[in-house]
Amino acid sequence: MENNTFVLSEKEIPTHWYNILPDLPEPLPPELHPGTKEPTILPPPLFSAAINDQEFSPENWIEIPDEVRDAYRLWRPTTLYRAYRLEKLLDTPARIYYKYEGSSPPGSHKPNTAVAQAYYGKKQGVKRLATETGAGQWGSSLAFACMLFGLECKVYMVNVSYHQKPYRRIMMETWGAQCIPSPSPDTDFGQKMLAEDPKSPGSLGIAISEAIEDAFKRDDTLYSIGSVANHVLLHQTVIGQEARKQMEMAGVYPDIIVGCVGGGSNFAGMFLPFVKDKIEGTKPDLRIICAEPTSCPTLTKGPYTWDFGDVAGMAPILKMYTLGHGFIPPPVHAGGLRYHGMAPIVCHLYKLGLVEARAVPQLATFEAGVTFARTEGIISAPETNHAIRVTIDEALKCRQSGEAKTILLAHSGHGHFDMAAYDSYLSGKLQDYDYPEAKVKEALASLPEVP
Ligand SMILES: *Cc1c(COP(=O)(O)O)cnc(C)c1O
Repeated sequence: MENNTFVLSEKEIPTHWYNILPDLPEPLPPELHPGTKEPTILPPPLFSAAINDQEFSPENWIEIPDEVRDAYRLWRPTTLYRAYRLEKLLDTPARIYYKYEGSSPPGSHKPNTAVAQAYYGKKQGVKRLATETGAGQWGSSLAFACMLFGLECKVYMVNVSYHQKPYRRIMMETWGAQCIPSPSPDTDFGQKMLAEDPKSPGSLGIAISEAIEDAFKRDDTLYSIGSVANHVLLHQTVIGQEARKQMEMAGVYPDIIVGCVGGGSNFAGMFLPFVKDKIEGTKPDLRIICAEPTSCPTLTKGPYTWDFGDVAGMAPILKMYTLGHGFIPPPVHAGGLRYHGMAPIVCHLYKLGLVEARAVPQLATFEAGVTFARTEGIISAPETNHAIRVTIDEALKCRQSGEAKTILLAHSGHGHFDMAAYDSYLSGKLQDYDYPEAKVKEALASLPEVP
């Protein structure tokens, strides 16, 4: 029998994060100050000095502090699997590998950056971190990280998910954090949103605005972000570095890499150490496919332009594919993919033609997720199901063409707190949402004016 798992030892946890910025064929557009609209780094009271330095670092390799590597040892290196059972069911000549990030204590890739951000906050001497969360994976990851480094943690959780996924809140509370639904009465911006719509389902953009306001108002608090920012993608590159070694152990190099994108961090963490080969020209045929929901199709339908990272316009203005910072996506179960924009690094690479994107509807993603659970056993997060859908579609194309392609799937996390969503799929109640064209048009009418 051939190997099913590819396991690295603790000693092989990466010692450095890989920074793509110096390797880009064209420089990344700057981030603009939300007020002056001049190029800026993130406003200083928000992030620690170390994180600010990392956001636009010219260094290719940034050393991972020992304390962070020590925290990584709780779940890293993560396992790479060969999906034999899925391949067999699909009757495909394709070879499917997946790197599973669901084995971290919070159950996703997100603690890869959370522990780094908590460590730098502690080092800077603050007492508390504030953040937003969509489906709750980021909030629980930061709660876990703050627990490890002895910090308080306040989480603004998107209202619709707060009620759909109560166990994520309890998880945060178990690790000692405070979690409230957003929009909340705890911030001026939350109060304003509640006055406009007391039943607002909330959005990641609104919750970001609340967490930023919280951090701005208090000296003892820094803001933490779970995706989109360059430093978050940087921290996630431990995934791709490990995967490269594990694919070498398996004796293969991927033809196609697939992942889901909300803000773009888990998938960029996987593909950045590989896209380097494409930029350098050693692997010109490598395909990198970003999977996103048809109901929030940032890359496949949005224009590439300047927009705020949040709804209130307090976060930096970023050059990105966007559906408009005021866009509130339909309440699909993949809460982590309900974001109006996308990481500038992912957008830049998409613009340059180095990565592709594909939108998939909700029902088809759950069908794929159930197929994965009934072959590989793992019950995946609704976000991850988007990537599984595209992986299965590519494997089925191989069945048609007879090509034995090697597919590498970035598996971002488990779905153990998403059983209500599976229940609704299995009982035939889950629905598809059309692309909300009119709402996007409306949101795109209020983009910031940039000289
Ligand atoms: C948050 C999350 C995502 C989406 O965020 P990215 O920054 O795009 O990675 C995807 N999958 C899981 C399991 C998540 O928790």
